[in-house]
Amino acid sequence: MRYVSTRGGVSGLSFCDAVMMGLASDGGLLVPEKIPDISDSLADLQGLEYVDIARRIMAYFIDDIPEDELGELIDRSYASFDDPLVTPLREVGDRYVLELFHGPTLAFKDVALQFLGNVFEYILADRGGRLNIVGATSGDTGSAAIAGVRGKQNINIFIMFPEGRTSELQEKQMTTVLDDNVQNISVEGSFDDCQSILKAVFNDLPFKEAHQLGAVNSVNWARVLAQVVYYFSAYVQLGLPKAFEVAVPTGNFGNIFAGYIARKMGLPITRLILATNQNDILHRFFTSGRYERGEVHFSHSPAMDIQVASNFERYLYFEFGENSRKVEDFMEAFMVSGVATIPFNTLNFDPTFATGAVSDDETLLTISEVYRDDNYLVDPHTAVGIRVGEEKRSGNVPLVCMATAHPAKFEDVMAKVLPDEDISHPTLSALKDAPTRKTVLPAEVETVKKFIHDFNDPVT
Ligand SMILES: *Cc1c(COP(=O)(O)O)cnc(C)c1O
Repeated sequence: MRYVSTRGGVSGLSFCDAVMMGLASDGGLLVPEKIPDISDSLADLQGLEYVDIARRIMAYFIDDIPEDELGELIDRSYASFDDPLVTPLREVGDRYVLELFHGPTLAFKDVALQFLGNVFEYILADRGGRLNIVGATSGDTGSAAIAGVRGKQNINIFIMFPEGRTSELQEKQMTTVLDDNVQNISVEGSFDDCQSILKAVFNDLPFKEAHQLGAVNSVNWARVLAQVVYYFSAYVQLGLPKAFEVAVPTGNFGNIFAGYIARKMGLPITRLILATNQNDILHRFFTSGRYERGEVHFSHSPAMDIQVASNFERYLYFEFGENSRKVEDFMEAFMVSGVATIPFNTLNFDPTFATGAVSDDETLLTISEVYRDDNYLVDPHTAVGIRVGEEKRSGNVPLVCMATAHPAKFEDVMAKVLPDEDISHPTLSALKDAPTRKTVLPAEVETVKKFIHDFNDPVT
């Protein structure tokens, strides 16, 4: 399989090339040259375990890692999950829930980042070189990136977060990781400061090159690919139904885009139900044809508090018939004016998409209803998906709602709804007294750069 950019300026990359490039060098996103249709061999998946499904699905997209090594890498990635099914499917009331939160940080990003960390390590061992991953987090997603690369050879990770502005639990999930290659940088400033430092560090091209900087942001193709697998796992666990629908809480359009790819490969998903919180750029797009930047609103589902959905461009590329020119025009218009439009009557785009946006109050209500009616605890992100799933499902086929985090990760919100319940998880409870390590730095680009430099090269 070769990879190309959605903007047309990059082509002919292998899988490993695409992973190392991350964002395409022409500003676009990397996508497979074509999506294989495997509808004729779906029956072969029956009875397979998660890692065997992963081997089969990933092999269609990866031809530059030998099969046995890819298999080992997949085994290692999912051995860190605390459920033998990796992403177990539960029947909850009259719908199913696919639990994606059994990885080390109890959120669905582990599914992708455990794999990506191993792929990075494999490529660096094969090609030589090292990688310094630099990222910024408002608290929620840094820990999964850290967990993905802790202890890996030839990789360091530097995660910035705003000092004193992440929850204690979120900070502990990062700072209790004491591996030498993990550096937590607590920046004396806001999350915006962290992001602008990050941007400035990456924009210093000589520095970037000298230190082999990389990112683990959600646009890496390996992340999407790892996520495609659990849609097939849901299908197998459902017993290979003729059709099913999925409801996905969405921020960066990463998780649901993986479902879109799975569907393109022939998986019988008849409806992709996209759920946002009040940050509803995607819901507005699918109901109006207008893709328009809004203000970020802070919500009870913080991992979906985003302005611009970074994977959306990949979807546009396929819906525009793989026409890079159209993608470029659309994204250009969006960059310049903050809005781009597709005439609504040509938005006969995939009619399988149904969308909805959920308020904080509705999120809380859903958590309490699912608990009352089905005795099942859902985190606020999962609740957003379930809410829209219930509204938009056809009712004729099984509905699978993606559960993206363990509720104990969001104890404050959960306590608002269910103050009397003990909502804990042993992994998180163990953090309370664990030793921590972080470096506090002023919100200055040069200081952060010096820290990265000195860590790599303490002599000069
Ligand atoms: C990141 C995240 C999401 C959103 O996933 P996208 O791929 O960005 O759409 C939803 N829920 C949780 C808990 C997350 O961490």
